[in-house]
Amino acid sequence: MKHKIQAMYRELNISEPVLTYCTETESKLQERFRKIDEVAEYNQMKVIAAMQKNKLSDIHFAATTGYGYNDLGRDVLEAVYADIFRAESALVRPSLTCGTHALTIALSANLRPGDEILSPVGKPYDTLEGVIGIQESKGSLAEFGITYSQVDLKADGSFDFEGIRKAINERTKLITIQRSKGYQTRPTLSVEQIGEVISFVKSIKPDVICMVDNCYGEFVQTIEPTEVGADLCVGSLIKNPGGGLAPIGGYIVGKEEYVEMCAYRLNAPGLGKEVGATLGLNQQFFQGLFLAPTVVAGALKGAIFAANIYEKLGYPVIPNGTEPRYDIIQAVTLKCPEAVVAFCQGIQAAAPVDSHVVPEPWEMPGYHSDVIMAAGAFIQGSSIELSADGPIAPPYAVYFQGGLTWYHAKLGIMMSVEKMKEAGLIHL
Ligand SMILES: *Cc1c(COP(=O)(O)O)cnc(C)c1O
Repeated sequence: MKHKIQAMYRELNISEPVLTYCTETESKLQERFRKIDEVAEYNQMKVIAAMQKNKLSDIHFAATTGYGYNDLGRDVLEAVYADIFRAESALVRPSLTCGTHALTIALSANLRPGDEILSPVGKPYDTLEGVIGIQESKGSLAEFGITYSQVDLKADGSFDFEGIRKAINERTKLITIQRSKGYQTRPTLSVEQIGEVISFVKSIKPDVICMVDNCYGEFVQTIEPTEVGADLCVGSLIKNPGGGLAPIGGYIVGKEEYVEMCAYRLNAPGLGKEVGATLGLNQQFFQGLFLAPTVVAGALKGAIFAANIYEKLGYPVIPNGTEPRYDIIQAVTLKCPEAVVAFCQGIQAAAPVDSHVVPEPWEMPGYHSDVIMAAGAFIQGSSIELSADGPIAPPYAVYFQGGLTWYHAKLGIMMSVEKMKEAGLIHL
């Protein structure tokens, strides 16, 4: 069997030295992989239990149209999400078009003119700068008289509790905590750390709404932020919880009163959760959620594999090869533009879709430098599928995430090494 697999990799243009190097690295990761499988097993049971408890049936896969009144599948889907997150309520909709939109709804639904948002974990995700108005932007919350303040993490990645205490004032209505580092170099927060900062904030001001941007974090641990005091937890369905099958969508889970406000903002005051046809998407939402724990496990294995492969080749990696993981993103600092291009072209060449396309750096709107992106995905822009992108600027880091199966993530990393080797950037 081993020879058959090797022959297959050769057919896919993985050379002997790359295969040998990668196989050796993989063999040392078995204990880590076993722990990831344990978390996946627990989360798989959690998902099944929620589906059983809510009596999921094939009637719930039926399409609704128009207003979408009595969309039984939508109601069960939201009940299942609420149970998985141990939350009171959930809003899970195709009309939440992406993660940024879900976060925008959660913020604008629960804030009023004169209120202040506090981020106690530094700068939020790029797209939120425009939403909040950190960068001047039409329609931002700043235009509605909502202000923003920020306390950065300390140099060692820990919370600046004194700074947070000072930043909380009578106008502080909501704190926003981003779980994942996103495309920054700070560490990703564990759910336990999120709980710590929430407890601290609530000890100063108990009625502050604590919202967590949960993107890329779902199912990485056995608990979610709603279990450690988060009032709202928000994410995208084309990342972890959609399991690669959800073709669009976002979710907001948390306290009933805040989620209800989100439904009024998303739809209309008075209508709330009662409307919103799902047009036949419920089956993909349920099935994707069902697969999500194992899909996330595959993506995590890919990230750990990549960290170990590139760390041994002498490239700085965040997180490093051995530290615990709290999201699925892996950063690799490749030190030169040619390596960023070769890496991304390797990921693309390993894709099931558009493997024949060769990505090149281009000037993307909203970015300060040229960016190269690799994504041969079934769902456009889906980053639970194997994808990588890198700005062509020092320190020449690529951000890599996803993989619907561990085997595909593995092929993608091997192909990236192959392209680096072909370009003469590494020697094996
Ligand atoms: C992806 C992401 C978002 C935004 O989600 P989109 O679906 O791309 O709009 C927000 N925050 C974090 C941490 C993310 O990773």
